[in-house]
Amino acid sequence: MSENLYELLAGRFPADRTQPCFLLSDGASVSYGELEDRVARVARRLVAEGVQPGDRVALQAEKSVAGVVVYLATLKAGAVFLPLNAAYTPSEVEYFLQDAEPAVFIQDPEAYLADATSAPLVDPVARAASDLASIIYTSGTTGRSKGAMLSHGNLAANALALHEAWGFTPDDVLLHALPIFHVHGLFVAMHCAFLSGAPMVWLPKFGDAEVLPGLERSTVMMGVPTFYTRLLANPGFTREVAEGVRLFICGSAPLLPSTFEEFEQRTGQRILERYGMSEAVIITTNPLHGARIAGSVGYPLPGVELRVGDGEVIQIRGPSVFSGYWRNPQKTAEEFTADGFFITGDVGRQDPDGRVWISGRAKDLIISGGYNVYPKEVELVLDELPGVTESAVIGVPHPDFGEGVVAVVTGHGDEAALIAQARRQLAAYKAPKRVLFVDELPRNAMGKVQKNLLRERYGGLFG
Ligand code: AMP
Repeated sequence: MSENLYELLAGRFPADRTQPCFLLSDGASVSYGELEDRVARVARRLVAEGVQPGDRVALQAEKSVAGVVVYLATLKAGAVFLPLNAAYTPSEVEYFLQDAEPAVFIQDPEAYLADATSAPLVDPVARAASDLASIIYTSGTTGRSKGAMLSHGNLAANALALHEAWGFTPDDVLLHALPIFHVHGLFVAMHCAFLSGAPMVWLPKFGDAEVLPGLERSTVMMGVPTFYTRLLANPGFTREVAEGVRLFICGSAPLLPSTFEEFEQRTGQRILERYGMSEAVIITTNPLHGARIAGSVGYPLPGVELRVGDGEVIQIRGPSVFSGYWRNPQKTAEEFTADGFFITGDVGRQDPDGRVWISGRAKDLIISGGYNVYPKEVELVLDELPGVTESAVIGVPHPDFGEGVVAVVTGHGDEAALIAQARRQLAAYKAPKRVLFVDELPRNAMGKVQKNLLRERYGGLFG
């Protein structure tokens, strides 16, 4: 039997194919039937152009329905989908193209679709669960970005587990404002909608003007922490606007406990935080029914084995965990244990009942004067100090200590006073030596603070 992921997804499309799949901002919609038809034609075009099972199809374009069509058609044709951030420069793209060697590179999916007028490809190309479905290049804050190889089986297992865990039904309407070059918007969000045959309120991005009316039509929202802080900054975002939404899901970067609390005060609802990564899609989630706790990422999904290994780094094994990095056996070998657990690089702990807490990235660890400093511990203290909205703590080369602890913060206040207050709660070696105020912390499209940029910017601070 074929285990092509597209077969699983299309098998769950609504029986009445006139039902909408994409609800667009201008009031128009695209039905499941139209989606299926476009996918079949683009799949046929790919095959006609000589794309073989296992060949890569790269897409670099702004978010669009046509982009989704290219994704699904690639699966249907048995090829491997390679999404690229629209913001990548030509020289960055060059690296990915050389590394992945796609058979087809699409930058204008609408035009590709418009030319796909040939007969449809009726049957999906047969694939085994272990066959590659997609390569996702990691955002790679150090060194060259690596391509995580995800199989049809990896993606199917995760999609089915999430659909169940988050209680999706055909009555749901998902607010989709995420990019589709990353696992969050591409797999997590869309697969839940497809498996339910549910529509998505389709926003090109998280724009203030469209989001409130979008929320009023939705039952589930998936977002990164920045979406939630932006909603809270919008006075039009009220309890009434949120009332019809049964579930607010957040991930891709840590959600500040203060955001969680403010959100609950505003709406009466508790955000469900989950944790994932390109290499395994979703790993843990807070429960749909049961306690959602600020600062915790919840429990491993069914089927996921999770343990805390050397250096308190979280290790995982399970059906959604990728098979390795594309054409990089050395990195693959380095990041798996002998017994097949993937070493995530995230530092954390697990309660006896299984609940998981993430405290930062192993590579963010600061070693100052020979002592280990976990940035998250310092950030939690700073975030509670008056005047501080948010902080990012980094290690900067220091002539005496090797690395000096530096806090980059948003908000307002006095540097010396903040350092003194932090010292009252933290051992001297952990307290920041400098506190620098900025208007905004640099973030990537998924809302992650780009500490690598901060380390570059402030590298000479103690020079
Ligand atoms: P990416 O592969 O780009 O999706 O990045 C994955 C990384 O994002 C993980 O290894 C974590 O460091 C981080 N991450 C994702 N979700 C969360 C979360 N809920 N809390 C803390 N960190 C997260």
